[in-house]
Amino acid sequence: MKPVMVGALACQRDSFLFDRFKTLVVSCEPKKDKDSITKGYEIELQDTILFPEGGGQPSDSGFLKIVEGNDSSSINKKISVSHVSRSGLYAKHHVKEPIEPGVTVEITIDEVKRLDCMQQHTGQHLLSAVLENKYKVNTVSWSMGGIVTEKKPVLEPSDYFNYIELNRKLTEIEVTEISDDINRLIINFPQEITVVERVSEDDASEVNVSKMPDDYDLSKGVLRTIHIGNIDSNPCCGTHLKSTSQIGSILIITNQTAVRGSNSRLYFMCGKRVADHAKSIKKILSNSKELFRCSESQVPEKTERQCKQLQQLNKREQYWIRKLARFVSEDLKSTLEASEKKRAYFMEEEFGTLELLLQVFKELFVYLKEKFEVYEIIICGYERQTGTGSLLILSESGEKIFSLVAKLGSLLQNLKGGGGKNGGKWQGKITSISNAEFAALTNYLSHDFISC
Ligand SMILES: [Zn+2]
Repeated sequence: MKPVMVGALACQRDSFLFDRFKTLVVSCEPKKDKDSITKGYEIELQDTILFPEGGGQPSDSGFLKIVEGNDSSSINKKISVSHVSRSGLYAKHHVKEPIEPGVTVEITIDEVKRLDCMQQHTGQHLLSAVLENKYKVNTVSWSMGGIVTEKKPVLEPSDYFNYIELNRKLTEIEVTEISDDINRLIINFPQEITVVERVSEDDASEVNVSKMPDDYDLSKGVLRTIHIGNIDSNPCCGTHLKSTSQIGSILIITNQTAVRGSNSRLYFMCGKRVADHAKSIKKILSNSKELFRCSESQVPEKTERQCKQLQQLNKREQYWIRKLARFVSEDLKSTLEASEKKRAYFMEEEFGTLELLLQVFKELFVYLKEKFEVYEIIICGYERQTGTGSLLILSESGEKIFSLVAKLGSLLQNLKGGGGKNGGKWQGKITSISNAEFAALTNYLSHDFISC
């Protein structure tokens, strides 16, 4: 028993077979990793409606239901097929459990995924054909969007766009014209899509086979040519719709990306994706509208205004931080001068950001080195909103810093930081502070240090 070759699979002969397709298991081989541990199985079926990846279309997924075999207890058992790969002329179904050769299985495919793939794939054929016929613009390559990967498990609305790489950029007018032409071929004048199979002995000389995969032996295999009415004919192994009307709709955007010199990526999506895209964009727009309390068309203007305001507020904050830091550092200097033990502290309890503390340190540092032989300063900030804090310990001595870090660490459970081994500055963060810890800290500082 030999499996049907890729090129003549049931899914390629009738792309609308989605379930209840009966076939036989021809072989089942374990997949082993480098340590010879079995990591699933590769199954060859006599024929299949699960498409292995090819022609820019990803592989199908689905499941096999055992319907006939020697082991009656396994009847009706469903085994999921994660993906199907092509090895030379044959399709390999990747599964987690083995199935005995000779067993009859019934295949069901993920219909929603397949229909989506066929709409994008067939849409690409039509788009490339119209571009070539109308403007003599060539499609160099294409890529299907909307594919979840380990690297990108969650997709943004824009990730659902496919692109074709063209040999030049299109103008906005051309994009509009192309969109109109394709919509006419979807709605007004739908074109029948047919597939012609050629086997090795047929004359295939008039077909461009340059894009056939190298490991597909055409002398033994099947060459498939996809015809869209009289508009286009192209060799392709993928699964296609039966009519351009089934593409449903197309969305082509004018924003393109320049690649490889003067080439351009043109982004588009087809079918149900267009409506799904509209829904997700509508949701984002509605949320923004609510946040800004404005109409939808005012969202860009409001966003721009908010950004400008934020920049101004940041500038203003920077100004006041610098000004306050100057005052605090002056206070610390005079407190230190008056202090017998040369120990002083500053505490900001509301908006004590690290930025403020570092600015105080910057104002103080040169002066400290010049005026004091010995000193211990603690600059502490608490941010009430976030319940976090920052802390700087300044001293001429690394040992003094070390013992202060130990003391403060005994009061604050979540204090972490570093620096100041040879004196200078130790910088720390307090990721959360309880009320009791905060009380213990202020109590310690007010007893052992002088407040500025
Ligand atoms: Zn195709």
